[in-house]
Amino acid sequence: MAESTDFKTLGFIGLGAMGKPMLVHLANKLPSESRIYVFDVVESAVDEICAQFPDRVLKASSAKDVAQKVDTVISMVPEGAHVRSVYLDPHSGVCSTDISNKLLIDCSTIDTATSLAVKDHIAQYFPSAFFYDSPVSGGVVGAVKGTIAFFLGCAESDPNVKRLTYLASLMGKQIIPCGGPSLGLAAKLSNNYLSGIIAIACSEAMDMGMRSGLDPRTLAKVYAAGTAQNTICDKFNPVPHVYAESPSTGGYKEGFKVQLMRKDFSLAVDMAKRVGSKNVLGEVGLETYDGASKDPRCRDLDSRVVYRYLGGDENWQSKANGA
Ligand code: NAD
Repeated sequence: MAESTDFKTLGFIGLGAMGKPMLVHLANKLPSESRIYVFDVVESAVDEICAQFPDRVLKASSAKDVAQKVDTVISMVPEGAHVRSVYLDPHSGVCSTDISNKLLIDCSTIDTATSLAVKDHIAQYFPSAFFYDSPVSGGVVGAVKGTIAFFLGCAESDPNVKRLTYLASLMGKQIIPCGGPSLGLAAKLSNNYLSGIIAIACSEAMDMGMRSGLDPRTLAKVYAAGTAQNTICDKFNPVPHVYAESPSTGGYKEGFKVQLMRKDFSLAVDMAKRVGSKNVLGEVGLETYDGASKDPRCRDLDSRVVYRYLGGDENWQSKANGA
């Protein structure tokens, strides 16, 4: 295991819904002599976190400024265009200063092509620097609790795997080396594609069963006992009040926003095309999440709201009780 002393100076770029709680774990758990330099294009987000950890979390003026001050940089921004800007902007990007020997970790969920382009640029101009994709899973709740999973874009034998694992373990639980550059992202996108497809299939299967007269709780028991068993049906059932703690039961309020599912699903469909995988469910799945993320009844809600989007009955309980 790497030593915490390896991280005397750390940079964090992107202090949004995920980045901020991840940074809070680092600020609380790294030894007191460590200093963390932070940057976000929204200055108030930087000021807020610096005020929360005075003397420990320090304000930087750009991604370049972060890179100049630290040995290790973590980034957590929304999309590929933002990652390009953070690393490759010729005036303010990480790569516009000397980053020789530095460790750079991008946790954003983006397309593999952009991640590889950033990695290639770094390999060309700073061969002694290390760049890794390391997307995460587990949502905002997991980031706050420190239970997110990290999918590392490296092999288990990578010379930095101990350092990466140590750092990730301060912010999350499961850390899985996926084999090589961009494969953390490929794994994450393939996981979200599968999870998204299952949510649509579960919504449809529940709906047709309920319309045929079945109680959704019975259907869920049948799936759990039968060959359809999976986590979405068990714990994230799209039908409200089948599982007490599912986002659907809470009005789809807490969970993984449908717009983020749309984004990841679209990246997955692009990846499938690029690598020549025949995904017959890709286009129809993307169309479904695209429609749901634009629908005012569904926007900003947990992605399992796809059940509502497809016309599923959410008030089945009152009917079952004869109300
Ligand atoms: P967010 O929009 O809440 O936060 C992104 C932050 O990045 C914002 O504060 C924004 O100001 C900042 N930013 C954008 N461009 C920047 C730049 N050029 N330089 C510096 N800062 C910049 O997004 P989020 O929910 O934190 O998601 C971040 C990434 O994590 C995304 O790729 C997302 O897909 C992924 N992710 C999100 C979740 C989730 O549940 N929210 C779960 C897993 C993975």
